[in-house]
Amino acid sequence: MNNFTADISSLRTPCYVVDRGRLASNLTILKNVQDRTAAKILLALKGFAMWSVFDQVSGALAGASASALFEAKLAKELFGKELHLCAPAYRGDEIEVFTQICDHIVFNSFSQWQRFKPFIDDSNVSPGLRLNPQHRETSVEIYDPCAKYSRLGITEANFRPDMLDGIEGLHFHNLCELNSDSLARTLAAVEDKFGQYFHQMKWVNFGGGHHITRPDYDVDLLCELISDFQGKYDVQVYLEPGEAIAINTGFLICSVLDITYNEMPIAILDTSASAHMPDVLEMPYRPEIQGASTPNDKAHTYRLAGPTCLAGDVIGDYSFDHELKVGDKLIFCDMAHYTMVKNTMFNGIALPDIVTYNPSTQEFTVQRHFEYEDFKNRLS
Ligand SMILES: *Cc1c(COP(=O)(O)O)cnc(C)c1O
Repeated sequence: MNNFTADISSLRTPCYVVDRGRLASNLTILKNVQDRTAAKILLALKGFAMWSVFDQVSGALAGASASALFEAKLAKELFGKELHLCAPAYRGDEIEVFTQICDHIVFNSFSQWQRFKPFIDDSNVSPGLRLNPQHRETSVEIYDPCAKYSRLGITEANFRPDMLDGIEGLHFHNLCELNSDSLARTLAAVEDKFGQYFHQMKWVNFGGGHHITRPDYDVDLLCELISDFQGKYDVQVYLEPGEAIAINTGFLICSVLDITYNEMPIAILDTSASAHMPDVLEMPYRPEIQGASTPNDKAHTYRLAGPTCLAGDVIGDYSFDHELKVGDKLIFCDMAHYTMVKNTMFNGIALPDIVTYNPSTQEFTVQRHFEYEDFKNRLS
C-alpha cells in the first residue's frame, strides 16, 4: 500500500483516520463487480460501521447487512437502501421491529423459521435460511463457520425440504479474508448438498469474507462464478463483505508516551492492542506500521505496547531507522475494519477519535471525540 503522506502534526492521538480517497478506490472495484454481474453487494456492518462515511458507501452498494438490533437500526436510520439481517438466533421481543425495518431476514434453523413464520407472513420481509456448507476454507478455528459442532447454519442432515413453504432465499457464509478460489470450492460443496433447492429460490446470499479489494484478488473468477450461478438457477446473488469495503482505507495514529527497558527497549503508546485493535490479540496478527520493519531489520528495535494494565497488551516488536522518542507519532496501517466496531474503554482509557481525511482538499475532519461521559454512560 502506498504511504499515507498527509501532514498529521495537527491530529490529537490516538485517532482512527479513514481516507475517503482510498475508500472510493475500494468502492469502485465493488461497483464494478455489481455492474459486470448484476449481483448486489451489501456492507456487513459487523466489520465497518463508521456512519460518517455511509453516504459515500451507500452511493456505491445495494444496501447493508446487520447482525443484531442496533446495527439494523443504524442501517435503517443512516444507510438506507436494502437492509438484510442474519444472526444465529432472534429474540422474541425484537422480531416485530425487525419485520418492520428489514427487507431480508435469514434464519439459522428450521425451529427459528417455524417460530417466527407468522410474523414474516404478516410483513413484506423476504425470508431465507442459512446453510452450513460443511466445507472448511478458513484455517483460524474461531473464524471458521464450518468448524466441528458449529452452530452457524443448517447442515445437510438437518435440512427439512418439507418446511420450505414461504422461504425465498438461501444464505451461506464460509469465508474469512479469502480469494475467489475458496468461493469456488465452497459453491461446489453447497451445490452438491443443497443445489436441488436453488431453482425454487429468488435469491442466494454468498455471505462475506470475500477479500475482493485486495490487490491479488481474482475478480474475474468471482464475476464468472456469480454469472454462472445466476444463469443456472435464475436467482439474484448477494454478497455481504465487511472487510472488503474498508481494507487499507484507514490508519490508527498514536503517540509514544514513554520508553522503558527490560532486556530490550519498550515503547509505551497511547493506543492499546487490547482496547483499540483487539484482532491483533484475537486473530492474532501483526499490523503494519508505516516506515517500520521486522525486529533487527532496521537500526532500532522496540517492543510496542499499550497503556493498559493487561500484561499482554503488546502489539509486537518492530524496528525503525531512528530512535523513538516521547511524542513521536506512529501510523498503524489497515485499521478501519474490525477496530471501531470492536474496541472497548477497558481501564477507562478513551477511545481513539474518529477522523475522516479528504485527499482532494487535504483536510481532516474529526467526526467524533470521546469523553468521560461515554465511559460512564455504559456503566451504572
Ligand atoms: C462476518 C460476516 C460477514 C462479513 O465478513 P467479512 O469478513 O468482514 O467480509 C458477512 N456475513 C456474515 C453472516 C458474517 O458473519
